[in-house]
Amino acid sequence: MLILKQIKDLENHIKTAKKQGLKVGFVPTMGALHKGHITLISESVKRCKLTVCSIFVNPTQFNDKNDFDNYPVTIDNDIKMLSQAGCDVLFLPSVKEIYPNGLEHKKPLNFGFIATILEGAFRPGHFNGMAQVVERLLKIVKPDTLFMGQKDYQQQLIVGQLLKKMKIKTRLAMVPTVREKSGLAMSSRNTRLDAASLKLAVEISKTLKSAKTQLRNPKAELGAIQEKAFTRLKGLPGIEPEYFEIRNAKTLEVPKRKTEKLIALAAVKIGGVRLIDNMEMN
Ligand code: AMP
Repeated sequence: MLILKQIKDLENHIKTAKKQGLKVGFVPTMGALHKGHITLISESVKRCKLTVCSIFVNPTQFNDKNDFDNYPVTIDNDIKMLSQAGCDVLFLPSVKEIYPNGLEHKKPLNFGFIATILEGAFRPGHFNGMAQVVERLLKIVKPDTLFMGQKDYQQQLIVGQLLKKMKIKTRLAMVPTVREKSGLAMSSRNTRLDAASLKLAVEISKTLKSAKTQLRNPKAELGAIQEKAFTRLKGLPGIEPEYFEIRNAKTLEVPKRKTEKLIALAAVKIGGVRLIDNMEMN
């Protein structure tokens, strides 16, 4: 696996690959890789001739300094995992390389309603920072396919909008969430949880599953299920839920009918670590 740190080196490498007609797959990450990330890499290796992964802990998408300062870094292990998964190129830029003119935001990108709710409401500035770096990376890599995880459901919807706004023809492939045996969605932040917190974190996916089961009852009401789920999480000592919402899976608007394609999305804090998860409801 080639490890490149400079944009111009990556651009040259990709230009040569494209001249040879190779399809390029791209997996942007913040490192501290786990099986969830590797599934994205494997999917790209399967579908594209050249797989590029980036590891960049993007400072502009962290609204909480403590979260940024404590974000896990496991670069040696990441390199090993990526090589074993068949990744061709790891792009490992410095902050200066990505933001040569400093971290100040340029014009804010406007994604409308979808970026103002849920994660957008609880993490002000997060999506703007995320979209800023993804746009920058896409302009460098110009992949045929961009692989993103369902784990960050709202994020991939916003990136879908970003791709529409940009002039490059990149397809977005959403890869289902990879979970621990316990049901807990894999996340780099899980490494910051102690044994008791890990046990508690399983309640997130349990609550999502329970909501899904309840929805199968024709008499069940969406609002009541949602409220019950939030109250359940709130009642567990050690978990601070931020939201538990059942939304239209395409627009993230509040659904009018149970027959719409639905997704439940949740965010909680456990011992100061913020975790998110989601599950399709029908
Ligand atoms: P991150 O490093 O957290 O920014 O994630 C990089 C990519 O991996 C994003 O597209 C995430 O949605 C995806 N990802 C993270 N965790 C998982 C998981 N458990 N299953 C599938 N994809 C994931």
